Amino acid sequence: MIPLTRDYPCAVVLQFVNITEPKHAQQEIEYQAQMLNSIGSSLIVTNPEGYVQYMNKAAEELYGWTFDEVRGMNIVDVTPTEATKQQSQDIMDALVQGKSWAGEFVVHKKDGTEFMAHVTDTPILDGDGNIRGIIGISHDITRHKLEEAKIIKSETELKAIYKDAPMLMMLVDRDTAVRKINKAGIQFAGLPVDQLMGLRCGEVLRCAHHLDDPGGCGAGILCKTCNIRNTILNTFKTGSSREMVEASLSVLVEGKVKDLTFLISTSFLDLEEEPLVLVSILDITSRKEMENALRESTQRFKELYSSSPIAIEIYDEQGILVDANDSCLNVFGVDNADEVRGFDLFEDPNLPTDAKEKLLLGKIVEYQTTFDFELVKALHLYHTSRSGVIYVDVKVTALGINRPGRISGYLVHVQDITSSKLAQARVKNSEQRLELALEGTQAGIWDWQVQTGHTVFNERWARLLGYTLAELEPIGVQTWKELTHPDDLQAVEYMLDRHFRKCTDFYQCEFRMKHKEGHWVWIMDRGRVVEWNQKGQPVRMIGTHIDITERKKSEEFLIQSRALAEEANRIKSEFLANMSHELRTPLNSIIGYSQILSSNRAGYLQEKELRYSSNIYNSGNHLLELINGVLDIARIESGKMDIEPGPVNICKLIDESIVLIKPLAMQKSLSISFDGKTRQLIINADRVKIKQILYNLLSNAVKFTPEQGSIVIQMISEADTVQISVSDTGIGIPENMHEKIFDPFEQVDSALNRKYEGTGLGLALVKKFVEMHGGRVWVKSEKERGSTFTFSLPI
Ligand code: ADP
Repeated sequence: MIPLTRDYPCAVVLQFVNITEPKHAQQEIEYQAQMLNSIGSSLIVTNPEGYVQYMNKAAEELYGWTFDEVRGMNIVDVTPTEATKQQSQDIMDALVQGKSWAGEFVVHKKDGTEFMAHVTDTPILDGDGNIRGIIGISHDITRHKLEEAKIIKSETELKAIYKDAPMLMMLVDRDTAVRKINKAGIQFAGLPVDQLMGLRCGEVLRCAHHLDDPGGCGAGILCKTCNIRNTILNTFKTGSSREMVEASLSVLVEGKVKDLTFLISTSFLDLEEEPLVLVSILDITSRKEMENALRESTQRFKELYSSSPIAIEIYDEQGILVDANDSCLNVFGVDNADEVRGFDLFEDPNLPTDAKEKLLLGKIVEYQTTFDFELVKALHLYHTSRSGVIYVDVKVTALGINRPGRISGYLVHVQDITSSKLAQARVKNSEQRLELALEGTQAGIWDWQVQTGHTVFNERWARLLGYTLAELEPIGVQTWKELTHPDDLQAVEYMLDRHFRKCTDFYQCEFRMKHKEGHWVWIMDRGRVVEWNQKGQPVRMIGTHIDITERKKSEEFLIQSRALAEEANRIKSEFLANMSHELRTPLNSIIGYSQILSSNRAGYLQEKELRYSSNIYNSGNHLLELINGVLDIARIESGKMDIEPGPVNICKLIDESIVLIKPLAMQKSLSISFDGKTRQLIINADRVKIKQILYNLLSNAVKFTPEQGSIVIQMISEADTVQISVSDTGIGIPENMHEKIFDPFEQVDSALNRKYEGTGLGLALVKKFVEMHGGRVWVKSEKERGSTFTFSLPI
């Protein structure tokens, strides 16, 4: 056997032998058949017309036919092929010329299945060169073809990787000089490929250091520490590859030096001619920068997390607590996060029941709950320094939900809202109180956006007028205007304008509004601007409406009653004036004639008659005194008596009064003294009335002081008042009468057993006159121990 082709080293040379010697020939045929069967290749022999003459075992196996079956069959039927027309023609041409033909095409087996065959057809020629038969040798090359295709594919891929790899790849020699470089390398170097050949690694990479040294890349001081160079040299030295060595290099980029970071891998290629190293260089500067940025941001996040005022808990994907920041530990009164690590988020009894479902769907779960530290202590859940109950706001967020079906953990924000909750409760309480207060006053509330007219009223406001708010919709400031009595609108506008101009702290006005049933309701409207704009204009005003219809009615009633009373008083005064005139005229004649009679000038009146006429005279005088007193009081009350002020020398006036009373005092042997005789005090007062006051007080002192007693007048002047007092050593006044005696007709003695004469009008007049001067009068007295009447007057 000699190889016919390099790839398929199997061929057969048939020895056609002389068959005239039968026995020997038979042996020879068997020998040849055995030999042919031992060939691993499929072999079929046909005659020149293509009829099968021989088929070896390998062919039987390959095509599925037995030799017996195909004997005499045409090869075209035994091994139908899908050879192209050209191939068929080529085979014929080769065979006719006595040459072999080899090629590949698809061949069918007996069962119809097909395979790729490598076929060699060789003509059997006789001595004259005529074709006696054809030997076909075929191989199933399907597997070989597939492997070949795989090899081609991987070679193509490798080439593509080398060519198009984003990383810089180059083959370098021991001197790091470039022998081959890929596209990325050419791009990085920025030079045409032919100029790159022979350059050293550092030159290709535009290393900034080699420029410093005339010796180029590898000659500089810093080159000794260059990780790229050292890695390549080390690979040459050890013959073993290096992977992912990080190296940094200062590189010239657009004229500027920039520090870049590379990842270098090397492969040692032990080639016969000369060992080379394949260097792969990946620029990871931006990745490095990103890594640094990520590290920084992670650091920032960590700092933020640990120093955040917001309480944060971190749970893993199973919902197990892995960490809690300081604020969180603070909220729960925990010293160390280890105390609470391992808690199951989904076991938390406060967590809403549907929370897990929501979280898995990427929804945020928020809830408010109370947290009872007493329970924590009772159940020995963890050590806490806190006690009582707090209110917390909780927000649970699933992390990493952006990647579908992937939750990497849970973040829980906890906020202690106890103080705001308590404040809310306080506000609610005060709101309730306000509501109750408003309910009590039945006040309706309005809230008016002055610039837009938008107004909000409460339900009670509508109720004041018999409506519900719904009945008055659409509701606004216009609703109020329409319901207000047109005659009252001007007053409202006037008062509002005053408030808007800040003349008043409050706006207040009373007006009528129409009730649903048609009558008018008096409203007291009070309000205040609570918000002003920069121009000083009112923005928002809030106020109340109160139904004051009842008050208005009683006010009206009072006004009417007062008018009636004043009228009655006027009539009474007129009547008294008339009456006093009518009484005084006959009284004067009674007094006058009884005085004449009492004088008994003619001398014919008996003693008894004299006594009677003296009685008439005394009674007449008393009556006159009474009438005068009543008249004075009536005049004062009806406002018809005015004071006529002028300068009054008060000490002199007191002296004059003493002179007047002295005769009466002497009758009872009473002493009268005044300590202010020498003083000069001029006051502005009605002389007649002050003298009347003094006379009334002095005459009372004389009247109610037993014989041998004493009367003392004192005067005290202060900055703006003067006090004059009349003290006696008389019978005194019981305390319960101290105020009453200043009312008209009030006397200590009852009328029936009265010992002292009098009208009961003297002190009433004193009080009226003092008050007309803007002064005051009072008494200090004890029964049987004398009395002191004092009156003050402004100076
Ligand atoms: P009258 O004409 O009765 O004196 P007044 O109004 O002057 O009327 O006094 C009223 C009453 O006050 C007297 O009736 C007397 O009871 C009591 N009163 C007034 N002054 C004195 C006094 N100095 N001492 C005791 N009682 C007096």
